[in-house]
Amino acid sequence: MKKRVLVITAIIIAIILTCGFYIWDGYESKQLEMPDSYQAIMNRGYLIVGVKTDTKPFGFKDKDGKLTGLDIDIAKAIAKFLFRNENRLKLVSVTPSDRLIKLTTGEVDIVIATMTVTPQRLDLIDFSHSYFIAGQTILVPQNSKITSIADLAGKEAGVIFGTTAEKNLRTLVPTARVLGYKTYDEAYKALKEGTIKAITSDDTILRNYALNDKSVKIINKRYSKEPYAVGVRKGKENKILLEKVNFVIKTLIMNNSINRLYAKWGLK
Ligand code: GLU
Repeated sequence: MKKRVLVITAIIIAIILTCGFYIWDGYESKQLEMPDSYQAIMNRGYLIVGVKTDTKPFGFKDKDGKLTGLDIDIAKAIAKFLFRNENRLKLVSVTPSDRLIKLTTGEVDIVIATMTVTPQRLDLIDFSHSYFIAGQTILVPQNSKITSIADLAGKEAGVIFGTTAEKNLRTLVPTARVLGYKTYDEAYKALKEGTIKAITSDDTILRNYALNDKSVKIINKRYSKEPYAVGVRKGKENKILLEKVNFVIKTLIMNNSINRLYAKWGLK
C-alpha cells in the first residue's frame, strides 16, 4: 500500500515538473522572439530611412527645401518595391556621428547616408550590397601649395566627426592638427575663413564644393576605397528586410537603373 502511494506521488511530481518545464520553455521563447522588422514596417505602412541632408548629390535639400539626391532615390526605390508607392517614406536627418546610434536604437529602419562599409561598422550593423564606390581625397583653396595628404603634416585639417576620413587622417598623417565638424557646411565655412588648410572626406562629396566654387579645388588622388551600402540592424528579425533591400540594390544594378541615377546626379 505504502509503495503504491509512493509510486503515484512520484508520477504526479513528474507530470507537474514536465508541464512546468514546457510552460516555462514556451514563455521563454516568446520573451526572446523579437517582432520581424519587415512585418513591422509593412504593418506601419511606411519605411523610416536615415539620410544625409547636407551632402550633395547624395542627400540634400533642393531650392524648395525638399530632400533629394542619389541616396533619396534609392530610398524611394525600396519604398516602391515594398509598397508599390515610392512616397511611403519617412526621411530622418542623420549625420556621420549619429547614424549608427539612430539605426541601432530603432529610430530609423535603415540608413542610406553615404555610409562606407568598414570592418568596425560590420561589428555593429549589417550592410546591403554596395551601390557606389567613392575614395578619400582633400579639398583645398585654389592657390594652396598642398598637393597630397602628407602635406597636411603640422597643418590644420578639417574632418567631419564620425567619418572614415577622420580615422584615416589620424593614421596616415598623425601630426596633422585635426579639427572636427559636425556638418560639411561648417567645415567648408572654416576652410573659406582660413581656420583650416584643407578638408578631407570622400571625393564625390568634396567635388561638389569645387564644382560650385572656383576658389577651391580637390586634389587628383584617392587615399581609400569607400564602398557605400545601406545599413540594416543585425539579428534574425532583420534578415527579411536585408534580403528585400539587397533585392532592390541588385535589381538597380542589373537593369542599369543605377547608371541612370549616377548620370542624373552627375556621378561618374
Ligand atoms: N563615406 C564616409 C563614411 O562613411 C564619409 C562620408 C559621410 O558619410 O559623410 O564615413
